Amino acid sequence: MVWIVRMLLLGLLVILSGCDNGPQDHRQTLLVFGTLLDIQAYTDQPELFNEAVMELDKTFQKMHREWHAWKGEGELIRLNRALAEGKSLQVSAELAGLLQRARQYAVDSEQMFNPAIGRLIALWGFHSDQPPGGPPPQKLEIEALLKSNPNMEDLRFQGGLVSSTNPMVAMDLGAFAKGYALNLAIDELKRMGIGNAIVNAGGDLCVSGRHGERPWVIGIRHPLGEGVIASLGVADGECVLTSGNYERYREFEGVRYAHIIDPRSGYPVAHVASATVISHQGGLADAAATALSVAGPVDWPRIAAKMGLTQVMLVDDQGKVYLTPQMQSRISFQQKVDEVVVGAETFD
Ligand code: ADP
Ligand code: MG
Repeated sequence: MVWIVRMLLLGLLVILSGCDNGPQDHRQTLLVFGTLLDIQAYTDQPELFNEAVMELDKTFQKMHREWHAWKGEGELIRLNRALAEGKSLQVSAELAGLLQRARQYAVDSEQMFNPAIGRLIALWGFHSDQPPGGPPPQKLEIEALLKSNPNMEDLRFQGGLVSSTNPMVAMDLGAFAKGYALNLAIDELKRMGIGNAIVNAGGDLCVSGRHGERPWVIGIRHPLGEGVIASLGVADGECVLTSGNYERYREFEGVRYAHIIDPRSGYPVAHVASATVISHQGGLADAAATALSVAGPVDWPRIAAKMGLTQVMLVDDQGKVYLTPQMQSRISFQQKVDEVVVGAETFD
């Protein structure tokens, strides 16, 4: 008799847990842009999530194919070839839009974000997946490229037809496309019915919705030490982009040359370890994080204001942290920081 009751209870438990199909964490990883893209959703529709991730994979592979500046036969490579030959090329509406936006960010950042310096990036070897060893490029070669002054304002747009008045312009979207793509991924997931998600490419991320009762909470990696420097809750539609000078670099005789180039000097940035920007526009945040790394500890508030940013964190090469007031009010440091400077309120 007792065992019958036990069996019934057990059956009931199984049924109850079978009914428990409320939202849960589901996770998938894709390999795109040479990095792992971690996609996490809080949903009660795992099949829909899996389908959406498969769609995303297709979108991302296409973007990688079309917009890589150095590999394959995508439209960006074809555009760079045309510009070098003084010709124009018909590009997709999406790429034309992307270039126009990039041009605006270049102007707003006083050219500290300048994706037209592809030749300089290639000279430093940062176009390849594995940056080279050996001595840095010759000063003369760097100066020659600086003199050619490649600039986004050299580009001309006529419908989808793109040309340049300067054949030394070579586009490299490496500082910008990732943020744009993360934004797109969140939008696409939403369109497919996955509205509570976080899309994360090595610490650069965009978020939609919430994680149930609480917002999504993320950590920003310490650019000089170990682990997380600060954590924060991220709201629906926000993106958090960090440009770091600690991950991709080349080294020669004890000197590190990082992959963010100061377009004014032609040399890699040294005074900033990382710049983090929060914005609803992933592409803007990405471009801005690069521009603020170039701007450095003194000039960053001016560039942040010009780019319309209110949420910025900079860590300099000594570990000193610079924050906008809005950033300060929402992050919590996870380890001891020696010095924090709160920058002038940019604007409202
Ligand atoms: P991460 O790849 O760490 O997110 P960024 O967003 O700053 O870093 O992108 C760096 C890449 O952008 C470089 O590898 C190079 O291709 C390109 N780049 C370097 N310096 C600049 C610059 N001043 N303006 C625009 N693009 C740049
Ligand atoms: Mg960037």
